[in-house]
This record gives sequence, structure tokens and C-alpha cells, in this order.
Amino acid sequence: MTETPMRARAEIDLAALRANVHALRARAPRARLMAVVKADAYGHGMLPCARAALRAGADWLGTATPQEALALRAAGIGARLLCWLWTPGGPWRAAIEADIDVSVSAIWALDEVCAAAQQSGRTARVQLKADTGLGRGGCQPADWPELIGAALAAEAGGLVKVTGLWSHYACADEPGHPSIAAQTARFDEAIDYAEKAGIQPEVRHIANSPAVLTLPDAQYDLVRTGVALYGISPVPQVGSAADFGLRPVMTLSAGLSLVKHVPAGHGVSYGHNYVTSAETTLGLVPLGYADGIPRHASGRGPVLVDGAWRRVAGRVAMDQFVVDLGGDEPAPGAQAVLFGPGDRGEPTAEDWAVAADTIAYEIVTRIGARVDRVYVHEDLDDQPDDQ
Ligand SMILES: *Cc1c(COP(=O)(O)O)cnc(C)c1O
Repeated sequence: MTETPMRARAEIDLAALRANVHALRARAPRARLMAVVKADAYGHGMLPCARAALRAGADWLGTATPQEALALRAAGIGARLLCWLWTPGGPWRAAIEADIDVSVSAIWALDEVCAAAQQSGRTARVQLKADTGLGRGGCQPADWPELIGAALAAEAGGLVKVTGLWSHYACADEPGHPSIAAQTARFDEAIDYAEKAGIQPEVRHIANSPAVLTLPDAQYDLVRTGVALYGISPVPQVGSAADFGLRPVMTLSAGLSLVKHVPAGHGVSYGHNYVTSAETTLGLVPLGYADGIPRHASGRGPVLVDGAWRRVAGRVAMDQFVVDLGGDEPAPGAQAVLFGPGDRGEPTAEDWAVAADTIAYEIVTRIGARVDRVYVHEDLDDQPDDQ
């Protein structure tokens, strides 16, 4: 691909991603680092980001779905890999045969893992997940002894090896929230019970990005970092990305597809929620909610055009939105930068999160497949190889 896409591009700065891995490793020097690359690496592109993270020193990869994990293996990535979002039917056997560590929260899942291990003649690597208070995935404390007992029996039969004990916080992004200490205590109890019963996990882990940045005591043997890897602060009320030594990886921009003069009193976009207050110029940005631009940011989302911040004028449509350029006349094709690291005056994903009443995780993750990803500062080492 030699032509630069004019419509829209999400530039992915792999040097920033590698630097973020280094910054996170420095915060958790005794723990191993898992790069969470689910959801196409939060919209940044799973394979290039996984390779860059591994080259920068990440020890593990993490995905939600088995399809994501298998795609990493199909691309030749051999790193340790945990996958945690399973439904009946697997594909457990494919995962076991691809050396993927699988998460188990319930007896039904352990039963399916054992059956698949039997069929494939391999020992499955299983990580048991405790619900220490999140109330989402994980095994409730009341059911933990039964799950541990079943796992020990499966280990004795050679069908599984329990490689990890793990859990997930509900409120790590609200430092001081009482649930944090309660969950840590319950995690310690779950580990203690399992280890006294005879489980010998390789890794114990509970920390996501906000925990890595705010809870030094919760790092255990491994930390699972997602959003911080992509240079986004999970706790903007505590510190910006820069405050944590992180750099945003994605810059989203588009070339204006039209610039035109309109008179005062002109309605703009569906519903005419915006009406020009004076004669002005309008710029057409060729990105819409089909590309992941939140319609909820209508009238508010910020865009840098020719050195000035403009706001979405009226509604975000499926493929495009309009900005009021206040009489400026940039040429068609002039860059509209929706968000980036922020140091060239552009808004950040966090600014869009505020405009759309959501979190920056959602802003980057939803940028759709129709937007070209353009990888920059790709280390030659990030290229596919036979690792
Ligand atoms: C997504 C996810 C993470 C990463 O969370 P961040 O806050 O993005 O670091 C870690 N663990 C689990 C189980 C997840 O689903």
C-alpha cells in the first residue's frame, strides 16, 4: 500500500506502544506483563500491536474470545496466551492444541475442557477465575471448593494443569473504593484455599491497567494491561496519560471532503439541531457513527482543523459530520484531527469521551474497520516472523 488514504486514517504509533510497555514494566518490575489485545487491540490492530508489545518485553498476551486467541496463533505468535470468554462448545480442543491457557469459572467449563483434553491427548492449561466481588465472570466463593476439588481430580488424571488463579476488580479506577481492599482480601483467601488443597499455580493475577497505576500491592505474579498499553489513562481523574509516562498510540484524522460558504440561519445536518448564527464556512468530515464516531457526541465532539478547535455542528451521521469553520477556508483535503496524543494541539480520546459521556476505552475500541490503520515507527522486528 503506497497511497496515503485521504478519507480517514487511524495512525498507530508502535514506538509509543513499545514505550508504554517499558513504562508499565517499570511500574510492575517483579510481575510479568500481559498485553491485553482483545477487541482488535482496543481498535489499534491486534497483530501489529501484539508483535510490538512482545518485542518490547511483554511476557503474555490476553484475549477475550477464543477466536482472537486462535488468530494470534494462526499468525505464528507463540507467546503464552490466556483467553477468558468462553461459552459451551468451546472451541476448547483447538485452544488446547494451540497451547492457549484457558480460563475456567465453572464446573461445566472444566468438564468440557477435560473432554477436549481427552480427545486431543494433551494436557490443558487452565486458569481458574474467582469472583472476588465483581459479580461478572468468575466462580463465587461458595462454589470455589467444588471447582478446586474438580480441578485437582482433573490434574490427577493428567487432563489439566492449573497454571493460574485469577480475578478481576470492579472499581480499580476509583482509588480508595472500599470494594478494592475487600476484593484483594477475597482473592488472597481464594488463593490460600486452592494452594492448601494442592494447586500450584504458575501465576496469580488480578490487576488491570488502573490497578497497575494506582495499587502497587496488587501486582502478584502478573499484571494484565490493556488500555494503558495504548496510552490512555484509565483514571483520568487521578492523572493524565502523560502523568503516568504513557503516550497515546492512536491518532484519528480525516481529510475534509468539502468546504463551503453558507448564509446565516442555515440548518446543519439531520434534524437541524445546529443553525448557523452568521454567514460562515462549513467543513465536511468524512467520518460517522459507522466508523465509531459516537452520535452521542453530536454538537460537542472536538476536532482540530488548521490549528483551531472546532466542534461537531449538529448531528453525527452514519458516514459524515460537519464542523463550523467560522469563515476559515481550508482547502478540501485539509486534515481534521479528531484525537491523538494532544501535543500538537489536537484533542485526545479522553476529550471525546467527555463529549460523548463515556470512557476513552470505548472511543478507541469502536473505531471501525472502514478506517485504515496506518502503522508508523514500526520496528523492523515487529514484522511477522517464525517466533
Ligand atoms: C479487558 C480486560 C483487562 C484489561 O483491562 P484494562 O483496564 O484495559 O487494562 C484485564 N483483564 C480482563 C479480564 C479484561 O477483560
